[in-house]
Amino acid sequence: MTGPTPRTVCITVDAEPDCPPYLWGWRGMDEAAPLLLDLFERTGVTATFFTTGDAARHAPRFVEHLVSAGHELGCHGMTHKAFPDMDVGEAEAEIEESTRLLRDFATVTSFRAPFLRFPDRFLPMLAARGYRVDSSRGKYKPSHWTPSAPSELTRVPASISSSWIRLPRPIRDPLVRSLRSPVVLFVHPWEFVDLRATDLRWDCRAGTGPGALTALAEVIRLLADEGADFVPIGSLAEGRSGSPSHDPPVGS
Ligand SMILES: [Zn+2]
Repeated sequence: MTGPTPRTVCITVDAEPDCPPYLWGWRGMDEAAPLLLDLFERTGVTATFFTTGDAARHAPRFVEHLVSAGHELGCHGMTHKAFPDMDVGEAEAEIEESTRLLRDFATVTSFRAPFLRFPDRFLPMLAARGYRVDSSRGKYKPSHWTPSAPSELTRVPASISSSWIRLPRPIRDPLVRSLRSPVVLFVHPWEFVDLRATDLRWDCRAGTGPGALTALAEVIRLLADEGADFVPIGSLAEGRSGSPSHDPPVGS
């Protein structure tokens, strides 16, 4: 068989208030998050929902629904506050409270910090609570290229920024085709609410609404046509229990 090498792909959703730190409403969770579940059901994608404790409190039925649909529930902190702004006590409280709350719904072993910013000094807090995967870095961010502290956690960075999925197709598709396995895409429910007429930052509002849902569906189709294996990010955990349940992360 010829064609591109099949890639492992993680579709991840950061389930949170609308466009923090600018809006803080819940239109994304209320109006758009169910549309994502429908899209994943139609396309056969098993996704990971990195959910804040506050979002789970706001929408417990939705969290139950995503878990019963077979998706992975991950942790995205409690309040969506930036971890670098916290002292040790605050960070412990954020992780402890969100972990306890989310584990009432499902086993939770994957973590992503808000704004993809998580100081290495806090990593032991995750390991101590049984987390196995951290996805708090982005390959497109300069911080990804700084050395990271050794950790028991498997680090699986996001491949591209969420707003890139909303780029015009002639730019987006070659970019998506170029991504190395494991491909980690992330979106937010609020991107699927039409925010184009707001005065938000350009990359937060451009292409939002129904067009964003079409764009995500097109990206999933493109990846599927190239033989993508869509897996929850927690399945990329290495070590501890032996061999990883899927291909280990490749590259940096
Ligand atoms: Zn977030």
